[in-house]
Amino acid sequence: MQCNCRQDLEARLAERMKKDLPEGFHDYNASLQGYALILSDPVEERVAVTYEGDVQVPKKGGNGTKRQKIKANITANYCPFCGKSAEVDKEQ
Ligand SMILES: [Zn+2]
Repeated sequence: MQCNCRQDLEARLAERMKKDLPEGFHDYNASLQGYALILSDPVEERVAVTYEGDVQVPKKGGNGTKRQKIKANITANYCPFCGKSAEVDKEQ
């Protein structure tokens, strides 16, 4: 991502959430979920939406079916918060 939305939003959310916590809280630890690291060079961080579910597939040997999980991530090309391109070269 080319923007600081994740860091900015996490800071704003933490500030807001902490206002409602009782005095004396500690070990506050929270972050925005839904980001994935892309193993490119350099490594990129992108907003990622998860696609998941399940399917019944035939068992080996042909005796009935079994549940198989389906899971994949699809990454966004633009930041959903500010609209900037996620890729550095596409912005100019
Ligand atoms: Zn952004």
